[in-house]
Amino acid sequence: MIKSLRWRMQIWHVAILGVAIALFATAFYIQLHRSTLSEIDLELLSGARVLEGTLRTLPPPRQDGERPMFPPPGFGEGRGGPPGFEARPSRPVGEGRGGEGRGGERPGPGNRPRGMFGLPAGRIEALLQLPPLSARGPRGAAPYFAVFDPEGRTIRAEPSDQQVEWVVPRRSIEYRNQGTQREVLLRGPGDALIVVGADIRPQLDRLRAWLLQLIVTGVGVLAMGLVGGWWLSGKTIRPIQQISDTAGQINAANLSARIPTERMDSEVRTLASILNSMFGRLDQSFKQQSQFTADASHELRTPLAVLMSHCELALNRPRSTEEYKQTIVTCQKAGARMKMLVEDLLTLARADSGKLELDRSLVDLQLLVRDAAIQLASLAEERNVEIEIVGSTVTCEADARRVSQVILNLMSNAIYYNRAGGKVTVSSAMETNHAVVVVQDTGVGIPHAAVPHVFDRFYRVDEARSRQSGGSGLGLAICKSIVDAHAGELLVQSELNVGSRFTLRLPISLRHPSVT
Ligand code: ADP
Repeated sequence: MIKSLRWRMQIWHVAILGVAIALFATAFYIQLHRSTLSEIDLELLSGARVLEGTLRTLPPPRQDGERPMFPPPGFGEGRGGPPGFEARPSRPVGEGRGGEGRGGERPGPGNRPRGMFGLPAGRIEALLQLPPLSARGPRGAAPYFAVFDPEGRTIRAEPSDQQVEWVVPRRSIEYRNQGTQREVLLRGPGDALIVVGADIRPQLDRLRAWLLQLIVTGVGVLAMGLVGGWWLSGKTIRPIQQISDTAGQINAANLSARIPTERMDSEVRTLASILNSMFGRLDQSFKQQSQFTADASHELRTPLAVLMSHCELALNRPRSTEEYKQTIVTCQKAGARMKMLVEDLLTLARADSGKLELDRSLVDLQLLVRDAAIQLASLAEERNVEIEIVGSTVTCEADARRVSQVILNLMSNAIYYNRAGGKVTVSSAMETNHAVVVVQDTGVGIPHAAVPHVFDRFYRVDEARSRQSGGSGLGLAICKSIVDAHAGELLVQSELNVGSRFTLRLPISLRHPSVT
């Protein structure tokens, strides 16, 4: 089985072209053969018709009670005639050929009869001279003829040495091939058989020449088709080659290459565009991944550096118990921060691979809001921010622990990025199919350009204004992953120096959990 598309196309091309040429050449040759033969036949028939007409001009048979005879007795005598015009012995029709046969006994000059057509035999001969026949014979061929009586006796033949076979014709006009000779058999008056023939060797030679020419032309056209087909198939698969070349250049280190689609045909361009957009997504995903790794390393480096430096400092020289205690507390904080970061990364990694498990149950979101408010009370007090909870009980099917994490994050952000004396309002409500919690603050707000990025991993609007306790920029990204896993949505609206509004919308029922 051939694996090359180009070769397969070529083989099909040759096969189809070959069959088409063969069919055309065959049909053409058959048509040519037929028309040549029919032309010959027409000319032979017209010659035979002349003979027939001549025979018909002869007077009707005698009314002496004898059965009509053909040829008339004594036919062919008197004038000596041209060779082959030798008269055959006359005999009544129906006597059969036995005994006499062709070239039988000649009637004597004394009883030279008048022909049955009422003309002297010489007249018949004269009529049967048929000069037009020679002139009208098939081009390039020497025509001949023979006239037989119903018993098969030759009345006339020209040239006389021409061998013409007698048969009883089944139809009034018949054609036959005798080697390279073509003959027409015409049933004439009185059941006479008129045979006119010609050697058609020149025509057959011409047909053979035509056939050869057709074969040569056919092979030539096929060869041209082969070359053209090869060129065409090469042109057709060139875009595919281009695609595979470009795809071959693309690797993890270089995902920026794209397939040039400008000069491609629409069919291939669609494929190339799909591949290009796939390369684009891969590129984006690789960039995100490497950025993520860099950010994660960067985030871990700070607490690690703190941990290392404090340890080294403590080990430099003997320290007091209080100093050691202080060092241990600092190391613990750094460790806790690293632990939190690693847990966040793990949560995101699980969410990315679709392995964020949701422990679903009926959850009262308002209850989660109240719990979060209690947890954040000291922070709110510290930052001088008031927390207000409005709305009624809203329940939905969700993972209480994870949704609680989202609400806590949104509310803690609202406190952190608020102004002193500001307010955080958390309202909850039911929509047709969703439970909604809105966290609104009166804080610094988010610049318009930064709004689309706040859910990106490790994104911080402004490093300087980030939480002092070490906001890693993963909080909102994790919130988004959790909400996505619940098939819900998390939206943000914000105005600089006015405040931000985060809307959490969760489906009441988790009929289509995105993560199991
Ligand atoms: P972080 O842990 O640094 O707070 P988040 O993912 O929670 O990270 O938030 C990303 C960034 O979005 C923050 O650095 C902060 O600049 C901005 N942000 C989040 N919530 C608010 C808010 N309520 N008001 C203003 N800015 C906010």
